[in-house]
Amino acid sequence: MERVLVSGANGFIASHIVEQLLAAGYEVVGTVRNLGDSKTVGHLEALPGSKRLSLVAADITDTDPFGKLTADVDYVMHTASPYVMHVADPQRDLVTPAVNGTLAMLRACQESTRIKRVIVTSSMAAITDEPDRNHVLTEADWNEKSSIARNPYYFSKTQAERAAWDFVSEHQPGWALITINPFMVLGPSHTPSLNTTNQIFVDLMVGKYPVIFALTWGFVDVRDVALAHLRAMERPAASGRYLCAGETRSMRQVVAHLKRLGYRGNLPRLGLDSVWGTPVAKLLSYAQPQGVGSYL
Ligand code: NDP
Repeated sequence: MERVLVSGANGFIASHIVEQLLAAGYEVVGTVRNLGDSKTVGHLEALPGSKRLSLVAADITDTDPFGKLTADVDYVMHTASPYVMHVADPQRDLVTPAVNGTLAMLRACQESTRIKRVIVTSSMAAITDEPDRNHVLTEADWNEKSSIARNPYYFSKTQAERAAWDFVSEHQPGWALITINPFMVLGPSHTPSLNTTNQIFVDLMVGKYPVIFALTWGFVDVRDVALAHLRAMERPAASGRYLCAGETRSMRQVVAHLKRLGYRGNLPRLGLDSVWGTPVAKLLSYAQPQGVGSYL
């Protein structure tokens, strides 16, 4: 039976990866930050096939979080990374853990002769942080604009993915690196907590967004993202980076869709997604916390 190590196994996306790996008959070793907390691990222990799942503690802010965990596995899925838009210190809270966590995992895998592939959950954030009507984005694109001051979460994902490819080109390990770069991931959550993308929609429904902004998202179902991770692991032809996005929808279309589904009361009504509205939205963004403001 082949064994797969999944970091951040309790997360929104990773829980679906673990579920699909167990369903496919793999043995899974999952790392979580808070092993003793039933809110963190209960949903994993309840998955069908969880007898083949073992959980271990690992924090990516530690120096060597994965140690010998990679010694007896065939594949690695590295998903653990802080996914938060607003933090006190973007370097300390986002970029350093994202980059160090990724490099720590790759270092732990470096000498393995058993590991065949390492799949890193990167992001659309590593492709771009700004749409451009005149350019169709592909896996050849890299986000060149984000920085510690501008969209620090995007910067953390870009820096982490770049560090991963640089590591592979420098050390030429015996395994292949593949990255999955999803856009906005939505769908049923196994976890009792809400991840950042699902939180955006809850916030929209409870009135935390007073207006409709000129935002457009590419959506992808969490089950498809998990499947992409498994295909990247199993398919011989898989290599490089894979953008994952299904349909593209503007914030206005999302609000209209939620209305059709029956959510009415607190959805935003005022539109700032027009020619005059966008400069106003830009002004308003300066009153937001830094991560949110630069995103807007
Ligand atoms: P979650 O917040 O549910 O998952 C993030 C995971 O990373 C959690 O398991 C979290 O652990 C873990 N993590 C964060 N900080 C640390 C740390 N210091 N040490 C150990 N583990 C840590 O979000 P998602 O499932 O959405 O995100 C998973 C991955 O997918 C991330 O890499 C994210 O950047 C990426 N991604 C997500 C997208 C989306 O739309 N959801 C889109 C593109 C990429 P804990 O629960 O303890 O906080």
